[in-house]
Order: sequence, then C-alpha cells, then structure tokens
Amino acid sequence: MDDGSIKVFQGYRVQHNNARGPFKGGIRYHPNVTIDEVRALAMWMSWKTAVVDLPYGGAKGGIAVNPKELSEGEIERLTRRYTVAIAPIIGPYIDIPAPDVYTGPQHMAWILDTYSQLVGRFEPAIVTGKPVELGGSLGRKQATGRGTAIAAVEAAKALNIPIKNATVAVQGYGNVGFYAAAVINELYGAKVVAVSDSKGGIYNSDGLNPQKVLEHKKKTGSVVGFPGAREITNEELLTLNVDILIPAALEGVITEKNANEVKAKVVAEGANGPTTPEADKILFEKGILVVPDILANAGGVTVSYFEWVQNLMRVQWTEEEVNMKLHDKIVKAFNEVYKIHKEKNVDMRTAAMMLAVQRVADAVKKRGLWP
Ligand code: NAD
Repeated sequence: MDDGSIKVFQGYRVQHNNARGPFKGGIRYHPNVTIDEVRALAMWMSWKTAVVDLPYGGAKGGIAVNPKELSEGEIERLTRRYTVAIAPIIGPYIDIPAPDVYTGPQHMAWILDTYSQLVGRFEPAIVTGKPVELGGSLGRKQATGRGTAIAAVEAAKALNIPIKNATVAVQGYGNVGFYAAAVINELYGAKVVAVSDSKGGIYNSDGLNPQKVLEHKKKTGSVVGFPGAREITNEELLTLNVDILIPAALEGVITEKNANEVKAKVVAEGANGPTTPEADKILFEKGILVVPDILANAGGVTVSYFEWVQNLMRVQWTEEEVNMKLHDKIVKAFNEVYKIHKEKNVDMRTAAMMLAVQRVADAVKKRGLWP
C-alpha cells in the first residue's frame, strides 16, 4: 500500500470451458466478488461466446476489493500482482481477459505490460478492451450498446414494428445505455422518449436527443433535470407505453411484481440478468419478445474478438469495418435464435441457451475424451 504496509486481497480466475476456443472473459474488481460468483459468470461467458459463434470458450476473473478505497498506484500494483499470479494459465491462445465491473482500458494496459515483460515480447493479444494506442480496437467502447440497438431493431423487424419513430425507453445511461440510445436514434431513426440513471428518469413524448442528454449528465451528474422533459421514476420507466424497452443498468429489475405492467413489445437486455425467471414467464405469456442478455449485450465480446484477431494479424481495421462485422454477427445470431424460438415455441432466452449449449456440447463430443 502507499503507506508501506502489506495487504492481502483474494483474486480468482475461473476457466469454464474451452472446447470451442481459448477461454475468454472479463476481470471484475468489487468487494462482493466470490469464487461462486466468478464461476457463474465464467459459465455465462461460455454461452455468450457460443450464441454469437465466436471461436472462444468462457472464463471470468475477479478480485474482492473496493477499488474506490485504493489509490491509482495501489490499483496498478494489485493489477500487476494479480497478472503475475494468473500468468501461467493465461495467454493469447489460452485465456484472454478483458474489462468488467470497475476495470477498464488502463487495467488492460497494465496487464499487457506485465505479461509482455514476463514473456519478453510485446503481446497485445493477451487482453482485449485495451487503449487504442496499444492495439485496442476502434469501436470497442461503443460495441455493447451498439449491439443492443441492433438486436432491438431486429426484434422490431420480426414483429413488423416500423423502426422509424418507434418509441424507446432506456434504463441506465452508462456505457451500454447511452450508446444503445444514441445508435437506435441516430442510425435507425427510433424515438428515445425516456432514459434514466441511478438518480431517476426523464420522459418526453416528442423524443430526447441522446447526445444532449449526455452533455446534461456530464454537466450535472444526472439525466434528471434535462430541459423540456418530465421527471419519472426508474419503476415508471419500465412500464411506459413504448415499443422497445432497453434495461441497461442492473440485474433483477423486471420481476413478477411489475412484469404484468410492462407494455413494450420488445425488451432488449443491455444489462446482464435484468429479468427474473418468474418475470420471463409472464412476459412470454404476454407475447413480449425478450432478446436475452447473452445475445443482446454480446456486442462487447464480439468486438473484443475482432480486437484479438487484429492483434494476431498485426492489422488495424477502420471503425466502419468493425461496425459492419458487428452488425452481421448480431443479426445472424438473432435470426438463429429467433428460428429456434419459433420452431420450438420457447421463449428467446431458452432458444439462445439451446443454441449455445448445443454448440458447446457438439464441440466437446466431436473432440472426444482423451486421454
Ligand atoms: P455503467 O457503470 O457505465 O452504467 C450503469 C448505469 O446504470 C449508470 O448510468 C448508472 O447511473 C445507472 N444505474 C445505477 N443504478 C441504477 C438504478 N438503481 N436505476 C437505474 N439506473 C441505475 O455500466 P455499463 O457498462 O453500462 O453496464 C450496464 C449493464 O450492462 C451491467 O449489467 C453490465 O454487466 C452490462 N454489460 C456491460 C457490458 C459493457 O461492455 N460495458 C457488456 C455486457 C454487459
């Protein structure tokens, strides 16, 4: 620590499955990190990479720490020490970490540097979500929200809802929520009528300008108080009469208590796990098309894969190329999941799991048991 004392932090790296390719998954810094949480998240990554058909398996890492209590120097030393500890089990063809809760490009730069020094060569493909200066991909920052918007647009298409002027509500205005709102409005012409953050929500039936709302949030610390908009609560936002609902903040927000009140025709899960299993059933019975998290927020890991490919090939793609490839991946995955949803008459989450688990199982079986 900065004061010269020594503290011990518990860290984990869990590798769930690598039948389809190297392990892949983020690293989380949070006081509540436990081995069981990391295990569950590692498995989640196996299904997420399989559903969008990336040649990866699933892994996750974490350190039980409150990074807000540490100085930047302490976080750097913690990150480098953690990297040394997991170095024997990671590698560009073995296990490729990425950012998750409370980690970002700077942490990835420290991991890259530590690992590169250990192996004696510059090894950018060891992590994704790096700064662009160190081999990060253009379009990575926007990728998750962009993927969520693309998934929502495909869902609207499937239900014959014209996307131009379709109404959209977005819960959470962070990395995922903002880019989802901006892309669905600017690229597809949908009308974002409501957004929210931890302080509350805003509504304007004429539509909000996502960029202007972001400027307001940067200036004041919240979307609340945006000129010309009416204030609403986060609970109200979920039950607004809109075409598309994008929960992009926390898990467990659509529950058996409010699922009956949801009026959107499409729910695109930007966040991980925003709908509880009980609510899932209710939404399915109401005929609401839920694009599940492992598909609707797979844009981030998809562009992570593109970043890794660029690193291995020592090339850099333009942002347009990245965006086009992301679009194709999400649309293809959506159509594959939608087909199973229709053919088997199961909800989209079950359909996505059927596709993902089948792909992993096929790979395991075809490789066989050896030795
Ligand atoms: P973020 O920290 O950038 O943004 C979170 C937003 O949620 C903030 O605007 C915050 O104010 C808001 N929020 C917090 N508490 C809230 C509450 N009680 N009610 C309403 N809003 C609240 O985080 P992010 O990266 O955008 O991640 C959001 C979700 O998306 C998480 O579930 C995350 O696991 C998931 N996700 C993110 C990525 C990614 O690439 N960033 C990829 C996959 C999944």
